[in-house]
Amino acid sequence: MTAAMPLCAIVPPYVLDRLAEAGHEPAVRSLALDAAHRAARLAAPPPTSGATGLSRVIADAGHSQRLPGRTVRTEGRDPAADASVNHAYDGLGATFALYADAYGRRSIDGQGLRLDATVHYGQDYDNAFWNGQRMVFGDGDGEIFGDFTACIDVIGHELTHGVTQFTAGLEYHDQPGALNESVSDVFGSLVKQYALHQTAADADWLIGAGLLAPGVQGVALRSMKAPGTAYDDPRLGKDPQPAHLRDYVQTSEDNGGVHINSGIPNHAFYLLATALGGPAWERAGRIWYDALTGRRLPADADFTAFARATVAAAKARYPDQPSVADTVTAAWAQVGVSPG
Ligand SMILES: [Zn+2]
Repeated sequence: MTAAMPLCAIVPPYVLDRLAEAGHEPAVRSLALDAAHRAARLAAPPPTSGATGLSRVIADAGHSQRLPGRTVRTEGRDPAADASVNHAYDGLGATFALYADAYGRRSIDGQGLRLDATVHYGQDYDNAFWNGQRMVFGDGDGEIFGDFTACIDVIGHELTHGVTQFTAGLEYHDQPGALNESVSDVFGSLVKQYALHQTAADADWLIGAGLLAPGVQGVALRSMKAPGTAYDDPRLGKDPQPAHLRDYVQTSEDNGGVHINSGIPNHAFYLLATALGGPAWERAGRIWYDALTGRRLPADADFTAFARATVAAAKARYPDQPSVADTVTAAWAQVGVSPG
């Protein structure tokens, strides 16, 4: 935890790079801030709550670049006048609820870690990130991106980077990095689905729906249902995600395409959840959770190793329903990954 953490930000660097190259000033500043956070070394994580329950602390950076900022809402307090504060508070709570109710996990470390967040970070900051200690939200520039507290799945995505950090510890590059990103998309989407009481068939399977400002040609940052179709905009470019291993993108950008190739395992999860039907956090989510937290997955796991772990988890969790493990194998096969 004292080493430099990968900066797990929701907007991938290639998106901001493109905007910056086109002269979009907020993207230039956002990239500079991201780089500073990527280089930062952090002290110990926040204290655990010690209680079985949820403990949240929301701070307001007041558009400065100082963390944590002024504390504006703590656990059990009435809503603030500021909608961003309340959105962050509610999103942290919804993430805690999914992990606690569906998987019996006490906060992201499993030991009641206090959930800290800072809103209104920087000026027009076009990102949100988990830095190993806290969630930090920008307001967006209002032209390309809106307020990053608005999307509950973005919050679930970022906090799941914390869960991964405390469990499988998947390395943040190439295939293990794409799995790290994908796991965050999977549970980010499940946080939203659980909060909205949606079945797999009802869910939109988008990440960051509503985050793009009006006028941007796109519906979200990523689509698990149809990777590569989330946006196609003159300023943002086209969503580069593949949905199948044959289209795997070899690149040195984005830590080896961690936000790009995550489309492949994302789509496998979508295919599994919709094939099993019902609430996706139940069987499909449980299998992914067991694979992530089972302590058998190496930190450098590739897609095949992760697929194998999910099949093993399905067999262990549902020994009387062999069709579940078969459905897991079939979902991976459809994206070109053979668990063997
Ligand atoms: Zn991420």
